[in-house]
Amino acid sequence: MSTLIFERSRPGRCSAQLAPAELACPGIPEALLRQAPPPLPEASELDVVRHYTALSQKNFSIDTQFYPLGSCTMKYNPRAANALAMLPEFLARHPLAPAATGQGVLACLYELQEILCDVSGMAGVSLAPMAGAQGEFAGVAMIRAWHRSRGDHARTEIIVPDAAHGTNPATATMCGYAVREVPTDRSGNVDLDRLRAAVGPQTAGLMLTNPSTLGVFEQRILDIRDIVHAAGGLLYYDGANLNAIVGQVKPGAMGFDVIHVNLHKTFSTPHGGGGPGAGPVGVAERLLPFLPVPIVLRRERPGAAPAYVLAGESERPHSIGRLSAFMGNVGVLLRAYVYARMLGREGMGRVAQFATLNANYLMVELRNAGFELAYPARRASHEFIVTLKRLKDQTGVSAMDFAKRLLDKGVHAPTTYFPLLVPECLLIEPTETESKETLDAFVAAMKAVLEEARTNPELVKSAPHTMPVRRLDDVKAARDLDVAWKT
Ligand SMILES: *Cc1c(COP(=O)(O)O)cnc(C)c1O
Repeated sequence: MSTLIFERSRPGRCSAQLAPAELACPGIPEALLRQAPPPLPEASELDVVRHYTALSQKNFSIDTQFYPLGSCTMKYNPRAANALAMLPEFLARHPLAPAATGQGVLACLYELQEILCDVSGMAGVSLAPMAGAQGEFAGVAMIRAWHRSRGDHARTEIIVPDAAHGTNPATATMCGYAVREVPTDRSGNVDLDRLRAAVGPQTAGLMLTNPSTLGVFEQRILDIRDIVHAAGGLLYYDGANLNAIVGQVKPGAMGFDVIHVNLHKTFSTPHGGGGPGAGPVGVAERLLPFLPVPIVLRRERPGAAPAYVLAGESERPHSIGRLSAFMGNVGVLLRAYVYARMLGREGMGRVAQFATLNANYLMVELRNAGFELAYPARRASHEFIVTLKRLKDQTGVSAMDFAKRLLDKGVHAPTTYFPLLVPECLLIEPTETESKETLDAFVAAMKAVLEEARTNPELVKSAPHTMPVRRLDDVKAARDLDVAWKT
């Protein structure tokens, strides 16, 4: 089968004449006008549909296979949330339309702000950031603004534990801070002695990924809070994977000053495919003035329905500013709103219960099947780590080989080689909505590959065998990326 639609092109073939043959655009200078028609593929409607359908079937996807990709998980994305977010009244609204004609969408966004405040335990939320990393940037920019507003210019460092997500040190650097790393102790928690030694008058704050990239819930959060606050620093909570704790504990109640949440992980938009996202930020009382704009406000009107308005720079002079044109990624925000309303407060708590139940079930089953856990003494949060270091030493089969062979067994590979702290690791996240049968089938696939690695390592090392392509040269793909069609 051809991989490019151009290979199916035949002169004069087409689907339907949708555009007028002669597009009249008066006023364009002659020199700028195209001399020949663009070299677009000419194919029939059936050709086009079959081509792209066949291509889509070559991919692994959440619609066809189990996808236990830790950290950047494809979590549950109910179709109903998408259908409502795609209502024509939402889609057709012009972003510059006045608030008076957009009361419905503004009401949804306002209520989403309120729901996220409630879930995170923070005093205020802005929906403006359009990714997790952008939410982090907003959060650290607010920490910076707060110190500056108090005339404290001596704070030049952000502390980042080594089990943090990679975007955390990157964010601190982007905001102009030096990053001071603190190590993890043997049980997977932040090393408190090293933290005590690291804080001082130069500490602007600490960024904690929780659960950390090791898949465990930090056990000494209140101690961390006390150490950092006593030194005058603020606390940042990376809540990208809120499905581990949602409806159970609130970062605001743990004493955090800022949090971001990835709606495109926990709230009904898929992550991992590189599509649009949203990383709302929540703050404690003292950071409220700095929240990025716009923010949706609700004004009560006696004798009338409340009015929803967008507050910008003039109403919020201390804001760190704008992170996007208009209101952020509204489609993602609407999906999150519908999903949150479908779950309700009670359902929200069940998300975290099932996320951790599924992860712990899978972890124990894999340990019983002979896999080595990176942190055997710890309970999993929403994800956990298996290390194949010993298997590699004994058989030469690496985590990458293992992952590739899993594709032949019909499951998407877990995250490999992340976090960097654990050698030959697989970071596995089943997600909250998978059935016991699916989890058991995954354990069977893992067991089968383990057996093959011991008895026939070459088979695993040369995998995949049944995929449309074999082992790809990912270094070449990254260095010599060529996606242009040339005739
Ligand atoms: C995914 C993730 C991020 C970054 O989110 P993006 O939307 O990819 O920028 C940050 N922290 C953690 C813990 C994550 O899992």
